[in-house]
Amino acid sequence: MRGLLQFTMDLFEGLGNEIAPAKPPLPRTRKVKKKAAPPVAAPPSSDDTGPALPAIPLRDTLTLASFVHPQATREAVLGSARVAYEFKRGKRKTIGFVVGAEGLSVRAPRWVTLRDVDAAIKEKSDWILRKLLETRQRHARVEATRIDWKDGAQFPFMGETVVIRLDPKHGFASVGGTLDSGDDDGRGPRILRLAVAQNAEASQIRDAAQAWLMRQARRLFIERLDHFAPRLGVRWQKLSLSNAATRWGSASVDGSIRLNWRLIHFRLPVIDYVVAHELAHLRVMDHSHRFWETVESVVPDYDLLRQQLKDEAVPRWS
Ligand SMILES: [Zn+2]
Repeated sequence: MRGLLQFTMDLFEGLGNEIAPAKPPLPRTRKVKKKAAPPVAAPPSSDDTGPALPAIPLRDTLTLASFVHPQATREAVLGSARVAYEFKRGKRKTIGFVVGAEGLSVRAPRWVTLRDVDAAIKEKSDWILRKLLETRQRHARVEATRIDWKDGAQFPFMGETVVIRLDPKHGFASVGGTLDSGDDDGRGPRILRLAVAQNAEASQIRDAAQAWLMRQARRLFIERLDHFAPRLGVRWQKLSLSNAATRWGSASVDGSIRLNWRLIHFRLPVIDYVVAHELAHLRVMDHSHRFWETVESVVPDYDLLRQQLKDEAVPRWS
């Protein structure tokens, strides 16, 4: 049975855990060489390397660094970094590594010795440290974008900073807000005037800003869908805005497109890449070479934009 889900392609990039790709299961001969070190997951493909590290040698950036998983039961010293990790055994055939928001988790088959686990971690240490550092940097960027909802709060709108002013006197209650063009000299940040009382709760200000942003998102996404659809020779039928924590967009064979309204924080070229990506799925329902050629036909620098989408930090909306 082919469920509809199979015909929906999702764009998850940049929001999930980093999982070290595992090698295929062990050959059946593994029982006779039980003493041999277990296979270690292969290094990630170039597609999975994530953002480039700053030009500081890894050794220096990690001096005395320490990464402690809240459920850590074991510890390793990798370079000059201390890595305390969650360790679990289970029914599996390889040692697996996952770097998530909380830190490093290691999963191992029951028959593997701790010495083998240590050796495997050593062997993967470059990948582990890189992912831990990237995750920490991403977390720091997200924290830096936490929005304090009050008069003067800022957030990015289409890649530019917008400052909120609470302006209940304005007669734009029907549209919820209005965006000024900025200072007279045009250099200051643009002002978003929200029809909200000065003494409003933070949640009211946030909801008013979100409602305004979602309206802008819908208007812009429709405009960009209409721009790219004829160029790709496809028809889209319906746009829904999503708020998923782990997904930028999806497309279904029936022509429905879902786009995450938070994309409206990003620069237009990044938004265009996601729009073109989902529309291209109406022609190619997979991520094959032909799919990426289709994307490239309308967004020639899609590879760069795809990387930028992975690197972007979405403001914390709470
Ligand atoms: Zn896709």
